[in-house]
Amino acid sequence: MYTIGMGVSSCACTSSKPVSIESSWPASDKNGTAIVVRSACAGCGVVFDPTGHELDADHRARLAAREQIGRFGTWSNLGLPSVTRLGDRVGARSLVVEPPNHLRFFPYDFEALAPADLRGAVRSRLGLSRSLWPRAIITPAWDRPVIVHHGLVEKFTTKLDNMHLHLVALTQRTIEQPVEAWTNDYDGAPNLHLMARYRLPHSVVTHLVCADTRTALCMTQYILTDDVEDDKRNGVFQYASWAAPR
Ligand SMILES: [Zn+2]
Repeated sequence: MYTIGMGVSSCACTSSKPVSIESSWPASDKNGTAIVVRSACAGCGVVFDPTGHELDADHRARLAAREQIGRFGTWSNLGLPSVTRLGDRVGARSLVVEPPNHLRFFPYDFEALAPADLRGAVRSRLGLSRSLWPRAIITPAWDRPVIVHHGLVEKFTTKLDNMHLHLVALTQRTIEQPVEAWTNDYDGAPNLHLMARYRLPHSVVTHLVCADTRTALCMTQYILTDDVEDDKRNGVFQYASWAAPR
């Protein structure tokens, strides 16, 4: 653990305290200089160690977000950037992943399948075997694995729409590598919302996986429509892969 002490340890902020970073954090300053930050102000971005730098807007946002993890609120009142800025202005570009075609499920494919074949196609895209065993998938966003199970196969084959089927094969990846996670109530039940961003040919979409926090069962997954992407970012801000490290 690094302790603050050397160099400048104050800035113009009166309310913020310096934030130290346990594992040195590769960042960049306002002049575009690469620096390895060990201590900085989460309020204004003044870097205390190494001295003589101010974080650029991207890294300021990442450090400020780190300080909000575990708090309750909405993305806007926690001061987070809109989801559309993640991987664009805030965070590494690699936050937004372009899925290969074989992981996308197209209407002309799923609409043409007979019910039994559709069920098999959805099952294998969820990574489930013919046996009825569920799968427990570890997520960095939570202290328990999320359980993917055959009830989801029934659910999505009944839905038969693009929002539920197009990225069904990315369910495991969104659980394993979410961009963000929030816990919130949905119809009186506490839910974990795991979100990832995927680049499709004509748009970048947010994929949402929901799990019931009492049972850890995955309840659903689907692509959010543009107008509600940020609305889902409320509750307890549980995790952000793009935030500065502890
Ligand atoms: Zn400051």
